[in-house]
Amino acid sequence: MTLLRQVISAPVAHAVVLSRSCLAVSVTPRRKLSVSSSSRAPRVDANVLLGMSEQELQKLAVDLGQQSYRGKQLHHLIYKRKVKEIENFIQLPQSFRNDLQEAGWTVGRLPIFRTVTAADGTVKLLIKLEDNRLIETVGIPVEDEKGPMRLTACVSSQVGCPLRCSFCATGKGGFSRNLSSHEIVGQVLAIEEIFKHRVTNVVFMGMGEPMLNLKSVLEAHRCLNKDVQIGQRMITISTVGVPNTIKKLASYKLQSTLAISLHAPNQKLRESIVPSAKSYPLEAIMKDCRDYFQETSRRVSFEYALLAGVNDQVEHAVELAELLHEWGRGHHVNLIPFQSNRRI
Ligand code: SF4
Repeated sequence: MTLLRQVISAPVAHAVVLSRSCLAVSVTPRRKLSVSSSSRAPRVDANVLLGMSEQELQKLAVDLGQQSYRGKQLHHLIYKRKVKEIENFIQLPQSFRNDLQEAGWTVGRLPIFRTVTAADGTVKLLIKLEDNRLIETVGIPVEDEKGPMRLTACVSSQVGCPLRCSFCATGKGGFSRNLSSHEIVGQVLAIEEIFKHRVTNVVFMGMGEPMLNLKSVLEAHRCLNKDVQIGQRMITISTVGVPNTIKKLASYKLQSTLAISLHAPNQKLRESIVPSAKSYPLEAIMKDCRDYFQETSRRVSFEYALLAGVNDQVEHAVELAELLHEWGRGHHVNLIPFQSNRRI
């Protein structure tokens, strides 16, 4: 494994030690895989306040006959005070609260159905969506001797996943639907609620492939950055690779980290672990990642789950080193000790 160590340019992130789908999800979706355009469509955030910008909230207040500063107050209550119900917006006039409720508005916070805490303090949350589907999200606290605790939220972007990677329980369970932006932001706020601490980092490494739900992921990214006030550099979007999406993401010039779930140093082995790799050759992914780095100046992170006897031999390490040799300094590798999936 010495060679593998040579290609690591950063310590293995705590956040991804739990595997690419860091949730090891075991929730059974109600519908089987169907990647039709309708099943992929995110739920509309109709009448949900969570996810709206300050400007949008100001416009809403004005539309309901209030002065625009009431929108600022709404923003403060939702994102700073983290109030979960409109009736508890006691700083607002009762008439405004009534108008919001009568117009069908809700805050859109998600109820926590169950939590499981691991010995290291990591907490898995099972969250119930409005349509009774369940998703998992994980809060990972890291005590830092030099500063305040870091709290990473590992969030889901879909209910299930259509990509069926060989080692992933989520993939085996099939795909139900995309999450809307408020359902993604809601996971972060749920973790803050459990830990009573601000989330400092967000990784899109939970259920689902973020690049198959890029619209909601980008909307959630905006909200997490601008409204929840999590720095762009503290946000990581992880993908196994979906054709044409890395270029698209690069065009937004976000200062966030792109993480590629590589898991193999060659195309043949990768296809056996990540079936969707057939439609996106390794060479093309590496080229798109290089372009992403050039476009954003952000280092790309390559994730490599160590699957015993499959991709963890010395020859794989040599091949991985060769693959990354021409890359230069704009990458790092996370070696992920693979853990079998456990139900919560
Ligand atoms: S892309 Fe889907 S199937 Fe593959 S590891 Fe991620 S969640 Fe699992």
